[in-house]
Amino acid sequence: MPYLRVALDIPLARLFDYMAETAELDMVGKRVVVPFGNRRLVGLVLEVDELPADPSLKIKPAEGVLDDLPALSAAVLDLLRFCADYYQYPLGQVVHTALPGRFREVGYFRVPPACAYQACDPDALMASLKPQARTQRRVAGLLAQPRSEAELRALAPSAWKLAQAWLAQDKLRSVPLAAVTLQVAAGPALNPEQAAAVAAIAAGQGFACHLLRGITGSGKTEVYLHAIAAILRAGRQALVLVPEINLTPQLEARFRHRFPGTAIVSLHSGVADGERAAGWVRAARGEAAIVLGTRLAVFTPLPRLGLVVVDEEHDASFKQQDGLRYSARDIAVYRARLAGVPIVLGSATPSLESWQNAVAGRYRRLDLVQRAVSGAQPPSMRLLPTRRQPLQDGLHAATLAAIGERLARGEQSLVFLNRRGYAPVIHCSECGWMAACTRCSARLTVHLRERRLRCHHCGWEQHFPPACPGCGNADIKPVGQGTQRLEATLASLFPEARVQRIDRDSMRRKGSFEAALKAIHAGEIDILIGTQMLAKGHDFPALTLVAVVGADGGLYSADFRASERLYAQLAQVAGRAGRADKPGEVLIQTDFPEHPLYQALLADDYAAFAATELAERKLAGFPPFLHQAVLRAEADTLAEAIAFLNRAVALAPESSEVTVWDPVAASMMRLASRERAQLLVQSAGRSRLGAFLAAWMPRLRSERNAKVRWSLDVDPLEL
Ligand code: ADP
Ligand code: ZN
Ligand code: ZN
Repeated sequence: MPYLRVALDIPLARLFDYMAETAELDMVGKRVVVPFGNRRLVGLVLEVDELPADPSLKIKPAEGVLDDLPALSAAVLDLLRFCADYYQYPLGQVVHTALPGRFREVGYFRVPPACAYQACDPDALMASLKPQARTQRRVAGLLAQPRSEAELRALAPSAWKLAQAWLAQDKLRSVPLAAVTLQVAAGPALNPEQAAAVAAIAAGQGFACHLLRGITGSGKTEVYLHAIAAILRAGRQALVLVPEINLTPQLEARFRHRFPGTAIVSLHSGVADGERAAGWVRAARGEAAIVLGTRLAVFTPLPRLGLVVVDEEHDASFKQQDGLRYSARDIAVYRARLAGVPIVLGSATPSLESWQNAVAGRYRRLDLVQRAVSGAQPPSMRLLPTRRQPLQDGLHAATLAAIGERLARGEQSLVFLNRRGYAPVIHCSECGWMAACTRCSARLTVHLRERRLRCHHCGWEQHFPPACPGCGNADIKPVGQGTQRLEATLASLFPEARVQRIDRDSMRRKGSFEAALKAIHAGEIDILIGTQMLAKGHDFPALTLVAVVGADGGLYSADFRASERLYAQLAQVAGRAGRADKPGEVLIQTDFPEHPLYQALLADDYAAFAATELAERKLAGFPPFLHQAVLRAEADTLAEAIAFLNRAVALAPESSEVTVWDPVAASMMRLASRERAQLLVQSAGRSRLGAFLAAWMPRLRSERNAKVRWSLDVDPLEL
């Protein structure tokens, strides 16, 4: 009797054996329902064997195979095995992270095969329509050829409804989707840099990683679209990953518009469960030609994968911060390598990991230096020294003058401050008291409008105290700038201006962000105050001024990645200014105008910035010159967390090439009433670190400690 080796969503790093009545090799990659304790679980068959892995165990029969989905291919299973190894995460849980939620439920999930539609008798269909029914006649004309649902929907919502009605009346017949000929709508003619990039991507045979560097508006997306068109013509599929915030309806529309007949599946957290599962199935069956998604889409099965694109590859949202702590960008590169296909990593400010890979010759650099639209000038950038300058509520006189000019000209300004709330802290000048969160090692942020103090780490809130709880002083003051305070300041300085703040607090209600974007486009707003939320992915044609305040914090941070993030953020927010025919201006208020980061930014010299940073990292022994993993532990008390980590150090395998540091309290030691500590492990060799972790983790997992929750983070972005 054959045995099925099944991956279950259980936090144990092993597979589970079940007996099958009959089993064929093609059960590998399929879902099964199995008894587990007194539950029924859905598992995935990873192996079929003649013998059980452990003959001493009593083995139960599997209930049955759910034969509704295409089996996961060996290529996808290899990718999942790699993830389990690399991130030292139980394979069963990796498998279930990679599957859409629907497939983890016991039950069938059927997706009707996608097909195309064609008029049975085009002339008769046309003749049956009134001469004045223009839309109907246009749709009927199109249906002389096979057309996909995507194509009809792209045409007009009514086109798809019409087609369904005609199908019901037997005026149309369904034909295989493959009968639809690929259409590629014309885009702008590529400039020489873009053409060279597209040619380089298409030229290679097999795997190659291209690092496409170009500022916002330099035409990277256009390069992706051309490269995708080439592989679609060859009958292959494309996987395109973008950060959540960039996956806008505009981007989707741009893809659908370019490839009108093509089934494009969009996968992100906003897509309902059922739709996500259906999209996954269509991709796995090869019916969808393009998967456009966020990090979770990296695992989507694509039997004819021909190209992978990761846009804004430096973006931190590609890294999952809980559970399976994977980097979708890194997995995408590995996936392209496994599949033997090219991958394009695009960014204005590549991650220093990717940049170093290009410097070392592992990745090929493709540069777009010009803005794609002729006539559009990059914004002029200026630093406004703030040291020993009289500021008006934190704003430089030149900033205020520039906003005033925009108002007079009917143009928009954005004041960028990446700190929510009214002020970062409230302070008593008599006794030095500051409002702190009782559950975290963090200050409470002042939210004046709601008259509340709020912890941005755990969400704890309390009323604004009427007087200092320490000494009774009634004169306690918010200190520092937050977006709310900036909003109040600007509203009083420019009473005639329409001011809109855009941050996570003001955009909490569903739909409010979309409404604000619409108002900006309609020119109903003069001054925008925004955090990171506004920095990315949006095009505001009337916005000609970006003023940055409070950026200096990123220059001298303890976090070695802070300056990399700051550069990326400033380059991105600067890219908001002057995209159309109007030249843009960027003003950065700073106490350190001579700092090399600002100087590189001013010269738009990312290479210079990267070279300086990489030299420092090499000297100091930081990634990408070393590989890191961090073991985190949390418990009710710091002592318990540290004790666990000390035990972990004692269990660590001997390795002269891996450094295990002492446990330390996390920089955010208390979080939501739990205390946290961590342990850094690093090595110059990626595979040596991997071997070390592979030997270490099983020992740690066999430790029982109910008080401590721990997790391993390989290639952590934050320490
Ligand atoms: P990025 O992705 O680098 O921000 P896009 O590809 O979105 O840049 O291009 C920015 C704008 O320039 C878009 O409106 C795009 O249609 C246009 N564009 C891109 N390439 C060209 C080109 N070669 N000629 C004219 N317009 C172009
Ligand atoms: Zn006091
Ligand atoms: Zn808190």
